This record gives sequence, structure tokens and C-alpha cells, in this order.
Amino acid sequence: MIINLEDVFLHGKAIKIEDYKINLNPDDLSRKDISDIECKSSVVIESVMDDITLKIDTVVSFKCNCDYCMECVNKSIDFSFNHIIKKSSTHEDDLNCIITPNYKLDLDSVIREDILLEFPSVILCKSDCKGICQRCGKNLNLGDCSCEKIDIDPRMEALRELLK
Ligand SMILES: [Zn+2]
Ligand SMILES: [Zn+2]
Repeated sequence: MIINLEDVFLHGKAIKIEDYKINLNPDDLSRKDISDIECKSSVVIESVMDDITLKIDTVVSFKCNCDYCMECVNKSIDFSFNHIIKKSSTHEDDLNCIITPNYKLDLDSVIREDILLEFPSVILCKSDCKGICQRCGKNLNLGDCSCEKIDIDPRMEALRELLK
């Protein structure tokens, strides 16, 4: 949705939007195995002192495979983004600054870019996921496998040979 910011800039009127949904696709998140993506935000745009601030709280929920054990997981991640909106650029602008020369803000693309920048590159089913055995492929969260517990680092193999 394109938001008209004229009332905020000219009359200091705040804009508050709840349950703002946008469509995200796997490409937006640079992940092919992701599905059932839902993205819901609450957005507040208001005049604070001399600035117009944009505050976005977003929840992204989705299905994908755990990067360690490959099990399908349902995840929900909270994000919080803050920007300053300006009508024209000045020398002190930073990355969080959004310039809207004609009072028009493309809210969807702001949210989409923010999420892409902060979306984790590794998704795990749980923080202590044990992954799968490199030898037999068993999901080690379900219990140990019967493979010998040795380091398969080739340097260790060479050392083992020497010690014989
Ligand atoms: Zn896992
Ligand atoms: Zn194994």
C-alpha cells in the first residue's frame, strides 16, 4: 500500500495501522524451501520533535526445513524496524532514513527490504538441534546412532596412523 504522509508532515497527524499484511515469497527471503509465509505488521508513523518516525513491528511465520537436521519446522520470528522519514535528503542521512519527496511511502517495499536484511541465514528447529550424523544420516535429536564416535577430520586420521 502507498501511504500518503501529507497529514503527518503538514499537520502532525499520526498514522497507526494494525494487522497490516504483505505478501512475501521465497525469493524475498532468499530461501527456496520456505512455504506458508505470513507477514503481519503493526505500523506507527508519527511526528516526534522535528522528525517523522516510522516504527514497524512485524511477525513473520513460515514453514521450512531445519538447516541442521532437515526436519520441517513451523517458525515465527519477530522483527522491529525504525526509520526516520524525510521530505528531502540532507548530508546527515543514514541507512535508516527514507526520503519521500512527494509524501508517498511505499510501505510494502520498506517492510520487505527490512525483513530481507535481517532475516536469519540459518534456521534451526531448536537452538540446541543436534543435526544429523554425517555418516549414517540419522537425526540425532531422536537419539544417538551406532556409528563410531570419531573425528573424521583427515588430519586426525593421519595422526592416528602415526600412533599405530
Ligand atoms: Zn533441527
Ligand atoms: Zn551415524
